[in-house]
Amino acid sequence: MTKAFDLVITGGDVVDPGSGLSGKLDIGVKEGKIAAVEAGIDASTAARVIDASGRYVTPGLIDLHTHVYWGSTFWGIEPDPVAARSGCTTWLDVGSSGGYSFPGLRRHIVETSKAKVFVLLNLSSIGLIGPSWELANPDYWDIELAQTIVEANRDVIIGIKARIDSSTTRGVGVAPLAKARELADRVGLPLMTHIGGGPPTIEEVIPHLRPGDILTHCFTGNSMRIIDDNRKILPEIKALKEAGLIFDIGHGTGSFSYDTAEAMLEQGYLPDVISTDIHQMAIQGPAFDMPTTMSKFLNLGLTLEQVIERSTAAPAAAMRRTDVGSLAVGQAADIALFTIEEGEYTFQDVRMNERKGSKLLRNTLTIIDGEELERVELPDLQPWAVLPAHQRGKVIPLTEVPAKPAAPLLDNR
Ligand SMILES: [Zn+2]
Repeated sequence: MTKAFDLVITGGDVVDPGSGLSGKLDIGVKEGKIAAVEAGIDASTAARVIDASGRYVTPGLIDLHTHVYWGSTFWGIEPDPVAARSGCTTWLDVGSSGGYSFPGLRRHIVETSKAKVFVLLNLSSIGLIGPSWELANPDYWDIELAQTIVEANRDVIIGIKARIDSSTTRGVGVAPLAKARELADRVGLPLMTHIGGGPPTIEEVIPHLRPGDILTHCFTGNSMRIIDDNRKILPEIKALKEAGLIFDIGHGTGSFSYDTAEAMLEQGYLPDVISTDIHQMAIQGPAFDMPTTMSKFLNLGLTLEQVIERSTAAPAAAMRRTDVGSLAVGQAADIALFTIEEGEYTFQDVRMNERKGSKLLRNTLTIIDGEELERVELPDLQPWAVLPAHQRGKVIPLTEVPAKPAAPLLDNR
C-alpha cells in the first residue's frame, strides 16, 4: 500500500519564525516536498521515520554570503560536504564568478551540487579567480556582458556583487561601485556591496546604496565600518537601514568585529541576516560555518528564534525567493536538525578578540528535497589556504575543520 508520507520527522521542536511555525510539531514529507506540519502525525503512515526528540527542527539554513566556485577561484570550497554537517541547504555564492566565468560555475557547481546554489554575479568579468584586484582594471567593468549573462540566467543569478575596499579597487576609488549600481538598476536586481578597509571611505560608498540592497560585512571593524569613533551608527547608514538596506554579517576571516557588533546591538540594530563568508580560509575558523556564526549571536543575546529567522526567512527575502527557507506545506523539504549544547565556549572575532558563551548550536542532520545528506570527511584545502598571520595557530576549535593544506605556502598577505 502506498504510504501517505515518504518520511515523517517526529517529536522535534519546530523553529520556523518566518512561517509562524513553532513547538512540538511533526513534519510529513512526500515527493521531496513538505506535505504536512502538525502535531501527532501517525508514524505508520510513513515509509520512513526520523525521531527528532531533543532536537530543534528548522528550515534548511540559507547562507547569504558564500564562495563555492571550487577549483576555479582562490576562495571556493565545495558546498555539499559542509552542507551535510551544518544544516545549510541553500548557498548564495557572492561574486566568485563574473561574466567570463559564470558559465563554469553554473555547469560545474550549481548543476552538480545537492545544495541549492544561487549566484550574485560579480561586476568584474573575471570574478574572484585571484584573491584581490578584480575591480582594479576598468577593462573588466563590462556591464554589457554582465547584463547579457544575467538575462540568460535569471533562474540562478539573483543579484550583483561588488567588493569595494583597498585590496579590490587599487586607486580607482568608488568608480566600479557606480558601475555596479548601474548594472543592478539595469537588470532590476539587488546589489551586494562589500566594505572593509579603505580607501575608499564609507562616506564615498553610501550614495551608491539603495533600499533592498545588501550591505555585507556590516559589522566590520575596519576603516569603512558603519559606526563612528564614538561607536555611534553613521546617520546616513541609519537612514538607509530604516528605508530597507539589508545588514548582512559575512563573517569571513576579516569582517566580523565584536566591538562593532556590540555597539550596533547596544543601539538596537540587529543584523538582518547572519552569514559566514565561508571560503578556503574562513572554514578553518574563527567563522567556521553557519552554526558557529549563529552561536555567536545566540551568546550576544539574540533568541534562538531571532537567530533562525536571520538564517532562513530573512536571507530568502533578501534573495527575493519564496521557494527556500520555510517549512510551510508545499515548500521543498529542506530541513535541518540541531541541538544546543551547553558548556563553556570561547568564541573569537577576526582580530581574535574573545567572548565567552554557554551555548553552541550543532547540526545533527541535514535534508535536501526530502533526502538526508550523508556526512563525509571534509576535503583537503588548497595549498594557499593559509589563515592571516595573526590568526594562524590561534583559532580555538569549535567544530571539525577540514584537513590542512597539504603543502601550505607562507602567507605573505
Ligand atoms: Zn566574501
